Amino acid sequence: MLNQIKGLHHVTSLASSASRNNAFFTDTLGLRRVKQTVNFDAPDVYHLYYGDEAGTPGTVMTYFPFPMAARGKPGTGEVGRTYFAVPKDSLDAWAERLAGLGVAGLGRDTRFGDDRVLFDGPDGDAFALVGTEGDERAPWTGGGISEQMAIRGFQGADMRLRDEGASAELLKFMGYEEVDRKDNVIRFKVPGGNAADTIDIETLPGASPAGQGAGSVHHIAFAVENRARQLEVREALIDTGYRVTPVIDRDYFWAIYFRTPGGVLFEVATNEPGFATDEDTAHLGEALKLPSQHAHLREKLERVLEPLE
Ligand code: ZN
Repeated sequence: MLNQIKGLHHVTSLASSASRNNAFFTDTLGLRRVKQTVNFDAPDVYHLYYGDEAGTPGTVMTYFPFPMAARGKPGTGEVGRTYFAVPKDSLDAWAERLAGLGVAGLGRDTRFGDDRVLFDGPDGDAFALVGTEGDERAPWTGGGISEQMAIRGFQGADMRLRDEGASAELLKFMGYEEVDRKDNVIRFKVPGGNAADTIDIETLPGASPAGQGAGSVHHIAFAVENRARQLEVREALIDTGYRVTPVIDRDYFWAIYFRTPGGVLFEVATNEPGFATDEDTAHLGEALKLPSQHAHLREKLERVLEPLE
């Protein structure tokens, strides 16, 4: 069993309008845009990152906005809902705020004792604000949401699967422990994690497979401290029979990817070097940053990419 994985690093989803996506995550949710770059594998599409002040692993929601993208069809084989942690006594204020701003999909529920406000992102992306206590992470308050309310980062996410078996085994291999189960949901947590430490598996045997589109999660990334830990994880996964990509340089972290038995794309990303490698922390996300391999495309990209503001 591995002990290098410390919880979530980032969650990456698909969007339609980049400007609407930017407005929702910065204004409505009050996150900080910590990087404005392009999809390194398809540079005519943005890659937008939203998180805390520094884009600390475990806080970072990222998007590939395709302007004409059709909406995804929820189903099995994907991450269904992504959970943000907020102070427990802020949930009523959040419900009121999101209702006042016309946010869709609003609801309340309780899962394994966590009180939650459920809501949809601009493309139907499913989210929850989870009331937590004792989360030590400092929130970004530059987006105008008070410290008493602001999002601390992720708490976790759920995966919707046809059957849980092989994916539950994989999570345990990755260092997660089953901590609870009720009806068709099993909760896993990674001990000693970064607070974004929860994964739920929701089993839906009769449901149809998801169709990926705007609002769908593209992949979910788990955090390891550094490249040495990442290589240990990569080797162990390969020894277990997973087909894992080589280590890929994403400028702000190093990444490996593999497809899980349930169909969800997993990434393992390093905490190093972080988002301040090509701009000051004080100005993160303000300018379009391009990786060196796409720097020659700047003039064209500035012409074709939708203005964010
Ligand atoms: Zn990623």
